[in-house]
Amino acid sequence: MSRATVRFWGVRGSHAAPHATHLGVGGNTSCVEVRAGDHLIVCDGGTGLIPLGDELLTQSEIRELLVLFTHYHWDHICGLPFFVPAFLPQWQLKFFGPGQTASEIERHLSNQMKVPYFPVETGNWMADIEYLEPSAAGLSYGPMHVSYQSVHHPGVTYGYRIAVGGKTVVYVSDNEVDFMHAAIEQRAGEFSEEEREQMTAIAEEERDADLNFIRGADILIHDAQYTPEDYTKKRGWGHSCYIDTVNYAIDAGVKALYLFHHDPAHDDGKVAEMHQHCLKIIRHRGAQLICTIAREGLVVEL
Ligand SMILES: [Zn+2]
Ligand SMILES: [Zn+2]
Repeated sequence: MSRATVRFWGVRGSHAAPHATHLGVGGNTSCVEVRAGDHLIVCDGGTGLIPLGDELLTQSEIRELLVLFTHYHWDHICGLPFFVPAFLPQWQLKFFGPGQTASEIERHLSNQMKVPYFPVETGNWMADIEYLEPSAAGLSYGPMHVSYQSVHHPGVTYGYRIAVGGKTVVYVSDNEVDFMHAAIEQRAGEFSEEEREQMTAIAEEERDADLNFIRGADILIHDAQYTPEDYTKKRGWGHSCYIDTVNYAIDAGVKALYLFHHDPAHDDGKVAEMHQHCLKIIRHRGAQLICTIAREGLVVEL
C-alpha cells in the first residue's frame, strides 16, 4: 500500500484566531486530512478546509474525497461554503456526520448555506455530492475503514477511528473526557452516598468504553482546549482539560497524542506551556506516550 499521511489544516477550536500571537500554532478551525495514496478522508470542515480546497485545485491525481463531520457547530462546518471543489463539476464528494439518515445529514450541512446567511445554496454545487447513510459496520473508503461513536459534547457528536494499512488514527476533536466525574462533582450535594457510588460506577463503565475506542491508536488527535483554571469555569461545555486528555491517552496505551482544538484565547506561549506540562505528566507516570502540539501545516507519516 502506498504511504499514508495525516496533515493538519486547522487546529483551533470554537472560532478562528488569526492573530499574530497565535500563528505558530495556527488560526484556522478544525480540519485534518488522512491521505492513503490517492484516497483522501477529511475530518471536519472548519476554516482549514478552505486552503485544503485551494491546494486540491493544484493537482490532478485526486478528484474524489470523503468528508467526515464530527458535528455541525460553526467551527467544524464554516469552511464548507468556501470549499471550491464543491462548485466544480469534475469532483465527487461524499459527506458523512451525525444524523439518522443521509437526508438529515444533507439538511444539517445545507442549512448554513441559505439566504440571507450565504448567497449561494448547496443546490448550486456542481460537484457530484453523495451523503452517506449511517452504518453500524462503519464506512470503507479505498484502503481505509472508518468506525465512529458518540463522544461527550453538546448535541450528537462523533469521534472517528480510521484504520489504514495496519495503523490507526483516532480523531476526537470535541470531547469532555471527564464529563461524568465532573457532573457528579458539580452536583455532589444533590446525591445520597449510595447514589453517588452508583453514579461513580456508571462513570467508570463509560470511561472504559471511551478508552476502548481510542485504545492502542498510533495517532490520537484529541480535544485539549482547557487549562485547569478554564475547566473550573467551563465544566459541562464539552471540552477537555489537557491534563485529563494526556492521562486518558496514557491509560489507553495510545502511541502518539496530538493536542488539538486549541482555545482561541491561548496564544503560542500558552499552548507551549500546556504542552510542557503534558510532557512532565508523561515522565512522572513513566509512560512512553509521544505528545505533540497539533500545528497548522504539520504533516505526520503513519
Ligand atoms: Zn469545536
Ligand atoms: Zn462543538
